Order: sequence, then structure tokens, then C-alpha cells
Amino acid sequence: MASVSFEGVQKAFGTLTVVRDISLDIGDGDFVCLLGPSGCGKTTTLRMVAGLEQPTAGRILIGGADVTHKPPKDRNLSMVFQDYALYPHMSLGQNIGYPLKVRGAPVEARRGRTQEVADILQIGHLLDRLPSQISGGQQQRASLARALVHPSQVYLFDEPLSNLDAKLRLEARAFLNHLQRDIGMTAVYVTHDQAEAMALATRIAVMEAGEVVQYAPPLEVYRRPATTFVAGFVGNPP
Ligand code: ADP
Repeated sequence: MASVSFEGVQKAFGTLTVVRDISLDIGDGDFVCLLGPSGCGKTTTLRMVAGLEQPTAGRILIGGADVTHKPPKDRNLSMVFQDYALYPHMSLGQNIGYPLKVRGAPVEARRGRTQEVADILQIGHLLDRLPSQISGGQQQRASLARALVHPSQVYLFDEPLSNLDAKLRLEARAFLNHLQRDIGMTAVYVTHDQAEAMALATRIAVMEAGEVVQYAPPLEVYRRPATTFVAGFVGNPP
């Protein structure tokens, strides 16, 4: 059964149609990158999966259940957005462990899991600091850790690595690859960076002007681009 299904999903803001009739299935364990230039509707599509925007038409299913009109909290999702808002008054450890706390996990289990995820992202030594006391890149990794600390049915990412320097970005990519292989995480990941999509995705949905113009594994998108737009965007082999 598909983990996430879009059935004729559309979104307009007033007279501006931003997402035009998307229908696709994301399989269980698939890591799908929504790839396309700025303004093509990637974030809006992701926000509809999250429940932060309502489609103007169509349905969204998660695990076979119609969630189109369900609030975000009833969707069993984890989200990492660009603006990685950490709670400023909580330490990093409290921030990362927060999703476990609200679910009532005992304090010892919370500490262990928080340390484990923070260590993988190389911020395990910063758990007593406040967000204002660490760098932007470290804040972003803390936000990633907070999203990953509790297992979810689907993980949603909006350019989560965009503020990291090149070295950390490669490390975080490797970490996400490892998660993908080890726990078979199902993810929808927004990026405008084709190299990132090639490295992370099991399937890429290339978007142009609110439509998915190709939905295929990375190598196929690269070798057999469906349109000249896709060819230009992903870069053809020489
Ligand atoms: P992307 O993530 O691919 O850059 P977005 O989904 O953020 O694209 O935006 C697609 C288009 O929708 C843009 O033209 C943007 O200005 C417009 N848009 C996004 N959110 C809103 C909103 N709340 N109200 C009006 N227009 C919006």
C-alpha cells in the first residue's frame, strides 16, 4: 500500500494556481525528492501533506486513510522546515527530546535516545546549550535531530540542509542515506538542488509550474529525462 497518495491535488491562492492536478503514489520506504526551480510549487505541495495548507481540489491519503481535512497533529508526520525554529528558552537537549516528552516517554528513555541522535549529528556535546549559544548549522542539525528522535510514518523535509556548509551537508546527506537504508524511512524531501536529489532519492518527482512532469528513480530521470525542461534542469549526461 502506498504511504502517501496524491489524488488530483490542486492548490490555488486566489486566482494564482500554484499546484495543478498532482496524482502520484509514494511507496512505503520510498525517499521521494520534489525537485524543481524556485516557485514551482514544491513547498506548497509539502505543506498540503503536512496539513498546513488545504488543497483546493483532490485528496491526500496517508497509509490509505484520507487525511485531506485532518489537522497536522493527526497525521503521524515529522517535519523539518527551512527555518528550523527551535524553542529559544529550552536547551538543545530539551528541544530534541521534546517530541518524546509530549508522547509521555520516561525521562531515561528520552535522555538515551536524545543523546544517540544528537551524537550521530555531532551535536551530542552541546545538549546543555541554548539555541542562541550555538551556530546556525548546529541549530539546523538540532532541528533535524528533533524531527528524527521519534519514529514517524512519514518524514517531511523542506530544504533542511540549505544552511549547512558543504562538508556538513555531505555528512548530513550520508546520515539521511543511512537512515533510509537502515529503517527504510518514508520521506518527502523538497529541494532545488539536483545533486542532492540524485544522492538521496529513491524516486524523484520533477516539478515545473505546479505540475509533476516526471516521477522516476534518479538514474532514469538523468538518463531519460521526460521533457526538455527536465533535461535542462537535471543536466544531461555528456
Ligand atoms: P517552491 O517551494 O517550489 O519554491 P512554493 O510552493 O513556495 O514554491 O510557491 C509557489 C508559488 O506559490 C510562488 O509563486 C509563491 O509566491 C506562491 N505562494 C506560496 N504560498 C502562498 C500564499 N500563502 N499566498 C499566495 N501565494 C503563495
